Amino acid sequence: MSRTKVLSIVGPGRSGTTILASVLGEADGVVSVGELRWLWRRGLIERRSCGCGLPPDECPVWSKVVARTGAVGSDTAAEIAAAQDELSSLRNRLRAIRSATGAGADWPALQRVREVTARLIPAISQVTGARVIVDSSKRAQDAAVLAGLDEVDHYVLHMVRDPGAVAFSWQRSDKKVRVAEGTRAMATRRLLPSVARWTENCLSAEILRRYVPRERWLFLRYEDFAAQPRESVARILAFLGETAAPPFEEGDTVVLGPNHTVAGNPNRFRTGPVTIALDDEWTRRMPRQRRLAVRALTWPLQLRYRSRRNFGVPTPGA
Ligand SMILES: [Zn+2]
Repeated sequence: MSRTKVLSIVGPGRSGTTILASVLGEADGVVSVGELRWLWRRGLIERRSCGCGLPPDECPVWSKVVARTGAVGSDTAAEIAAAQDELSSLRNRLRAIRSATGAGADWPALQRVREVTARLIPAISQVTGARVIVDSSKRAQDAAVLAGLDEVDHYVLHMVRDPGAVAFSWQRSDKKVRVAEGTRAMATRRLLPSVARWTENCLSAEILRRYVPRERWLFLRYEDFAAQPRESVARILAFLGETAAPPFEEGDTVVLGPNHTVAGNPNRFRTGPVTIALDDEWTRRMPRQRRLAVRALTWPLQLRYRSRRNFGVPTPGA
């Protein structure tokens, strides 16, 4: 039996990872499951809505998937969520990222998360019929768990957006998003915490990169994805060894169908035609002082990402 492919999307929040995952999920043989790490806590314990609008224990996909893993009941979900918390604690995070090589057999919490994830992935594939699962959990330590599993054919897409745009997005309190129950305001974050989280996410990704085979790592800037969505998605599908065509209708428009994303940015509830276009409002609306502050705090990483060859789009004329 062939191993299920999993694409972990790693990158800071508000970097376009949700919309990219949604687009990929429309390609033939690919399913986007949202932020899989939250299945246990936000999905099964807190019963937050799946992309279909139902809590996961009532959703036709997740109820079957969870039953197949045998990890049923809130006690089990709580025990798995506690093991996940142990991996993500500040004290253990580095060790969790390094376990991408398959190390850490003597760490009970890691073994618990690995064991249930090893059952979860084939169950998702069987229930949805997908060959490729896109997990936009975003954090390096969650991708490391998947990388360390023999049962999974694992790939990483590292997506980065200008931290000024990310900070602007987090600061906006006027942004409403449609959720299953109507609309709600997007969560906000102040400038410094948002820059700190951006940096922490990027540094964790850089560490993870050392433990993932070169040919399994793809780097994509949000700005390049937004400028060339079709080409970017084609490149990602080729990276995954998939022959499916990018799911665009005409131009840069994709029709998003209903989905079963377990958690993530509320944009995941969006269905219908969506045109991918660069959102650069921050360059006009963010005060200059704030923009300069973000640049001053993040320039070493920004330089690195600007000079890094972007694998997301083919080089012109290639
Ligand atoms: Zn659902």
